[in-house]
Amino acid sequence: PPPLVIVGASYAGTQLADSLRRLGYDAPIIMLGDEAHAPYQRPPLSKGLLSGKSSAASLALKGPDFFREQDIELRLGTRAVALDPGRQTLSLADGSALRYGGLALATGARCRTLALPGASLAGVHNLRTLDDALALDAALSGASRACIIGGGFIGLEAAAALTGRGLKVTLIETHPQLLARSLPAAMACYLEQKQRDGGVDIRLGQGVRQLRGAAGRVTGVELADGSVLDCDLVVLGIGVQPNDELARQAGIACDNGILTDALGRTDAPHVYAIGDVANALQPEVPGMPRRLRLESIQAANDGARALASALAGRPEPYTGAPWFWSDQFALKLQMAGLALPGDETVIRGDMAADRFSVFYLRNGRIAAAHSINRPGEHMLSRKLISAAIPATPEMLRDESFDLKHLAA
Ligand code: FAD
Repeated sequence: PPPLVIVGASYAGTQLADSLRRLGYDAPIIMLGDEAHAPYQRPPLSKGLLSGKSSAASLALKGPDFFREQDIELRLGTRAVALDPGRQTLSLADGSALRYGGLALATGARCRTLALPGASLAGVHNLRTLDDALALDAALSGASRACIIGGGFIGLEAAAALTGRGLKVTLIETHPQLLARSLPAAMACYLEQKQRDGGVDIRLGQGVRQLRGAAGRVTGVELADGSVLDCDLVVLGIGVQPNDELARQAGIACDNGILTDALGRTDAPHVYAIGDVANALQPEVPGMPRRLRLESIQAANDGARALASALAGRPEPYTGAPWFWSDQFALKLQMAGLALPGDETVIRGDMAADRFSVFYLRNGRIAAAHSINRPGEHMLSRKLISAAIPATPEMLRDESFDLKHLAA
């Protein structure tokens, strides 16, 4: 039979191939990736690797023999450039074409570019790929001041890591709150204070006018108010955009990513999309958006598992809660579910000691939980959210009440 072709050799693509083989799928699988590296872990790029605590060699997603043993043909340094869903062919950058039986787009996302003067100066770094991280790491020797543009997870993790490496770090965010896309204000303010305590100079509500440079290298960031922050390097953490061009150009429905059902199917026969590039239909929950394009390891892996189940003839959509984590200084933030404005918030534990969870209650059930340095509570909250367990603020607040009783 013609092969299943997977475009994108990262979390979603690798999990799809792995799950298919586990389910006994025995058609040929070809996985294409345009990066030079075999699939690797991305989260450490802004955490352990950037802090100097882990090495590039430790980041491989799979052991060296995995792809051969599972009979998955991995072609690195190979870019797909066009898709013809009618003929079921994929064109590659080298001019060749592949005929497919099924095509999974797992092309992920790329960093948004800064549309301002000076954005292409040397010393301005993105942080998405291993090569980006290695380039940033190499630039740290000899640098003493860094500016980070963007107060999302990547920006905050980079701020903590670079501070730990001895740089003086200023983080600039246009919005008056950090993490405005991901966290309610109270949790964002808590993290802001922790960043400040760690030594990061945080500038909120500040626009950037341009990057200044000399001899082709960045020397500073000019803010909208005309002031200039001198620096040796800039890290951009201003979000990503989905790599959905292959689908778009083929006429497949896209809107903030490739539109799919809960199993990863697009509106073109035999074409699927999973991971950061997919804007997937969600289970119907009052108050929740019908579609989400999540940017997380969990969504990539669980989306891939759901698609594998469909391709293997045993369709099983993911019904659990979304989850995510972030490491900054000594804090491990773990998030489960999606908090919405209007949720009742309950704090369990000791905020002053940096060991607590914030629970978000909606209609008498736990809808989301954000835990700081409480991994056990995070794991439990994932179960409680998925099972829509009723809970009261009193139970959650009372640390003598064992939350395991709720799950039982
Ligand atoms: P990607 O990992 O983006 O991979 C897509 C691959 O496809 C890339 O290699 C790309 O080059 C390739 N590709 C694209 N187009 C083509 C083409 N036409 N032909 C061939 N190949 C192509 N998530 C968490 O849950 N927790 C974290 O703590 C966390 N930290 C992160 C830290 C950093 C620095 C970054 C960058 C991301 C982090 N994420 C985290 C997000 C997480 O890494 C992504 O959600 C995840 O990588 C998505 O996987 P994916 O397979 O969908 O896409």
